[in-house]
Amino acid sequence: MRAAAPAKCEMPKFRIVVDVGHTPDSYGALSARNDPEFGFNFRLASLIAAKLKSEGFAATRLLVTDGKARASLFKRVSAANDGRTDLFLSVHHDSVPDKLLESWEFDGANSYFSDRFSGHSLFVSHQNPHFATSLLLARMIGRQLKEQGLHYARQYTLPVMGRYRHQLLDKDVGVYRYDGLVVLSRTRSAAVLLEAGSIINRDEEMEMNSSERQDAVAGAVAAAMREFCERR
Ligand SMILES: [Zn+2]
Repeated sequence: MRAAAPAKCEMPKFRIVVDVGHTPDSYGALSARNDPEFGFNFRLASLIAAKLKSEGFAATRLLVTDGKARASLFKRVSAANDGRTDLFLSVHHDSVPDKLLESWEFDGANSYFSDRFSGHSLFVSHQNPHFATSLLLARMIGRQLKEQGLHYARQYTLPVMGRYRHQLLDKDVGVYRYDGLVVLSRTRSAAVLLEAGSIINRDEEMEMNSSERQDAVAGAVAAAMREFCERR
């Protein structure tokens, strides 16, 4: 077990685990057009991992987990902790609490959407042993996403979010505190969860399917990681 992040960051040795949120069995949210979140996560996380590798982070690994929801969380944490990871980055796509869903018909099927909120968000846990590094990394990613012209999801501080309400740690770039989340609190490495955008929002779902948006997110993550390494 590693006690602290390395004093110096050597890009080829810096181990980033890019975690595909959810599993094929337990696929997360359903988009406004009834596509499972897992597929969105898999495509974007794969692109992020490829981009990081091509930019010199040769030790980057894509983590795909199977099985049911709760068990898969601990599987991914142990996979991350086995490999002396420096950063665990979990990739997800956002939805809304059920009470906000509205119905529409898509492709002949009764379907659900909410166009009320959009944007990405970043989460870190105070229970993570590398909270300060996690927060620093999340802010760097948020800054790069902002420079790509993207906006963050502001709703997490609102009462309407109920149990999904979170403290906003960085109001400029959209980093929230999510202490109890297993993949953030049980990982021994620095850990950040990225909700890349809302797939329950009908317009943003289409954006998340576009290579422009996917490239912007992957580019932002890679730029942030380079900046992090250069500062060490
Ligand atoms: Zn998710």
